[in-house]
Amino acid sequence: MSATVDTIQIDEAAFRGTVVRPGNEGYDVHRRIWNGAFDKHPAAIVRCAGVADVIAAVKLGRASGLPVAVRSGGHSFPGLSVADDALMIDLSPLKGVRVDPESRTARVQAGVLLGELDRETQAFGLAVPSGIVTHTGVAGLTLGGGIGWIMRKHGLSVDQLVSVDLVTADGEFVKASADENADLFWGLRGGGGNFGIVTEFEFRCVPLGTQVLAGPIFWPMEQSGDVLRFYRDWVAEAPDELMTIVVHRKAPPLPIVPAELHGKPVVMVICCWVGDLEEGERFIRPLREFGSPVADVCLPKPYLAHQAMLDPSFVPGRWYYFKSCDVAELSDELIDITVERSLQIESPLTSFPIWQMGGAVGQVGDDETAFNGRTAGFTYNIGACTETSEGFDEERDWVRSFWSALEPWHQGVYMNFLGDEGADRIRQSYGPEKYGRLQTLKQKYDPDNFFRINQNIPPG
Ligand SMILES: Cc1cc2nc3c(=O)[nH]c(=O)nc-3n(C[C@H](O)[C@H](O)[C@H](O)COP(=O)(O)OP(=O)(O)OC[C@H]3O[C@@H](n4cnc5c(N)ncnc54)[C@H](O)[C@@H]3O)c2cc1C
Repeated sequence: MSATVDTIQIDEAAFRGTVVRPGNEGYDVHRRIWNGAFDKHPAAIVRCAGVADVIAAVKLGRASGLPVAVRSGGHSFPGLSVADDALMIDLSPLKGVRVDPESRTARVQAGVLLGELDRETQAFGLAVPSGIVTHTGVAGLTLGGGIGWIMRKHGLSVDQLVSVDLVTADGEFVKASADENADLFWGLRGGGGNFGIVTEFEFRCVPLGTQVLAGPIFWPMEQSGDVLRFYRDWVAEAPDELMTIVVHRKAPPLPIVPAELHGKPVVMVICCWVGDLEEGERFIRPLREFGSPVADVCLPKPYLAHQAMLDPSFVPGRWYYFKSCDVAELSDELIDITVERSLQIESPLTSFPIWQMGGAVGQVGDDETAFNGRTAGFTYNIGACTETSEGFDEERDWVRSFWSALEPWHQGVYMNFLGDEGADRIRQSYGPEKYGRLQTLKQKYDPDNFFRINQNIPPG
């Protein structure tokens, strides 16, 4: 078979799913990913219908010599699920979820999105810890670690992972768990897409019930300095039932936001309390009573509703740019910089979260998984968003400059929040010890670096 894009031969009968090539119907739909800033044209897209297709697609990648991009939910910030002239192996048709309420486990195929998983687990009052936007893919999120609203109580997504099914760079099907290919299982819990294509995950589900006490409390952004200082001291005493995210932005015109606030710069502390709701009310009260909030919609509500609350802020197809860092604590100086930079936000779509970390995340041994952010105090995910390319460069410059201003406090960075930032940043994300261990694993499972369109860990 030829290695050039124009002449590559594909035996479409070898697939149960579809092969979509330039000019075919659906090509422009399936090559698109969440971040509209990327407009890439792969040589072919294999829309896998099952494990056999994934094996055949890997073999096709080998035989053709085309670089391979792997797509599940398509939410890679730096657009790594698609590449020009590549073979895009698309897992998104794999939508199976089976929850077993007796063993409290869930088997989840690679194309499942967070909201789809939540819907199935919540039918039994269960949950798998995941992320905060329902259209994100379970696969990429889990392979990076998986941080979200219930992590401080129940850990990361990877902390509830029992086993994975995976197709290696040789097209071999293997399983990984604590008892089988344990080295691989360690690496898959944070090491991303470096070691193969996961076709199915098995998770433990946690008993959550269906109601949480959750939602944002808003103050005008000019009060952010006082709010953040109060918040920092208050949240230091928080039990693991509480998870918070602080967001600075121009208030969006959404039904939950009072109309008079729309477009006004605000700081909000978004809470999510999982546990006894009255106890949650008691703990959250001092925050509600601090200063003069302009709106407070932190209320008892279905977990499913809270999981979907931020979806309208991350609409697919818009242009996004992110830079992220962990910090140990919110010092006065850090707060001053945060306030100053937040007041500069121009785009009505730009919103950036500061995640409260800790709790159950920090209670798992640091060397138990490849994920490397267990000691972080807070995670800044400085993001910019515009509807189209218009104004995008200015917002991106704002992100870069804000991130640089935080450099003295940088501690590490969550791999899933990395952009296209180069090898050193990937190394920093894991730290030298874990990075070395991951390189050894890469050498064992993918010595040719077949899976390299990702936050790449070269074989070592
Ligand atoms: C709107 C939005 C909200 C987010 N919220 C959170 C959050 O709350 N918590 C959090 O932890 N992260 C969050 N993230 C980051 C997210 O975890 C990563 O972007 C993740 O990679 C998305 O997974 P995906 O399957 O959707 O992405 P894809 O773009 O499909 O995949 C990203 C990368 O993961 C790898 N990959 C994907 N599927 C497979 C597979 N089946 N086998 C092997 N490798 C694979 C590949 O290297 C691929 O390049 C968010 C991202 C976005 C865009």
